[in-house]
Amino acid sequence: MQVKQQLLSLKPYIPGKTTEEVKREYQLDKIVKLASNENPYGCSPNVLEAISTKIPSFAIYPDGGTTELREKVATHLGVNGDQLIFSSGLDELIQMLIRAMLSPDTNTVMAKETFPQYRHHAIIENAELREVPLKDGRHDLEEMARQIDDKTNIVWICNPNNPTGTYVNQSELEEFLSKVPSHVLVVLDEAYFEYATIEDYPKTIPLLNKYENLLIMRTFSKAFGLAGFRIGYGIGAPTLIKQLEVARLPFNTSALAQTAAITALEDIEFVEKTIAANAKELEKYYQFFDKHQISYYPSQGNFVFINIPGLSSDEIFQSLLEKGWIVRAFPNGVRITVGKEDENEELMKILAEIVTVKL
Ligand SMILES: *Cc1c(COP(=O)(O)O)cnc(C)c1O
Repeated sequence: MQVKQQLLSLKPYIPGKTTEEVKREYQLDKIVKLASNENPYGCSPNVLEAISTKIPSFAIYPDGGTTELREKVATHLGVNGDQLIFSSGLDELIQMLIRAMLSPDTNTVMAKETFPQYRHHAIIENAELREVPLKDGRHDLEEMARQIDDKTNIVWICNPNNPTGTYVNQSELEEFLSKVPSHVLVVLDEAYFEYATIEDYPKTIPLLNKYENLLIMRTFSKAFGLAGFRIGYGIGAPTLIKQLEVARLPFNTSALAQTAAITALEDIEFVEKTIAANAKELEKYYQFFDKHQISYYPSQGNFVFINIPGLSSDEIFQSLLEKGWIVRAFPNGVRITVGKEDENEELMKILAEIVTVKL
């Protein structure tokens, strides 16, 4: 038996230690996980009500055409239903796009420090990777544009970028799009779209009228708090969507996920509360970081990327882990999901101790 050679260079996704493992290992009573950018406030309470009253027959396949949710999302965004493709989370849409568009004779351009699934699936398809290092923590769009050639099929812009939380603004994005040849698909991963509150964060839906080679990705996993259901979607030109539909599994989103998403989309108040609380907590973190000489990037997401001078990201990660706090370490920094007020306050105290010990 032989899997594709390139699979041997990859690792399966490891979700990190479980809460129970950390509890046992360090003999702790309480563990707080701020590692996966989940919504600390859960999801709209209407979701529980909807999935327990509108119970579908479990013996029947879900609606493969996602009819009702498609209508709701189309109205919500002001687009047509045929501009949408639904997936089992954006992870699946990324896989679908790559399966449909990348092969060994093509290349794909992305930031070096960005969402790892673009890279992972491109390697499985044996496409050439062109990874462009971030510049001051931000996408280096000039260099990314330079990397594009006639073999480039997809360019990825994660906006705001995971893990740094930095963003590409409206004019930067438009200038970039004007330079990209029309045979290249530009994927805008807007997983944290709802959280981005800054004024010049791009309004991308109107750009679809001008650029047929644009695909916007949004998800119910983050601000809507439905990560456990696995549902997200892409927005693009009808011709592109029709072609991608061929690569979509017939029943890729479950009946319960569709019901949950429809309900969550209607509860605007829940999302607004989530966004406001996140923005307020982020401000508190910034003030704290400034006071304690912790470096960070201002974030448009529900997470913040930090560094403590004199400590490696693994050392920061380890110091927090021993006290029961699970965050995410990257080679050049640590990503912390913004939690609830009490969690953030407690974490700040621990970070202050770590900084003091170091000084
Ligand atoms: C979380 C995340 C996704 C994937 O989300 P799904 O749960 O699969 O919808 C995609 N892109 C980015 C940047 C993310 O942070």
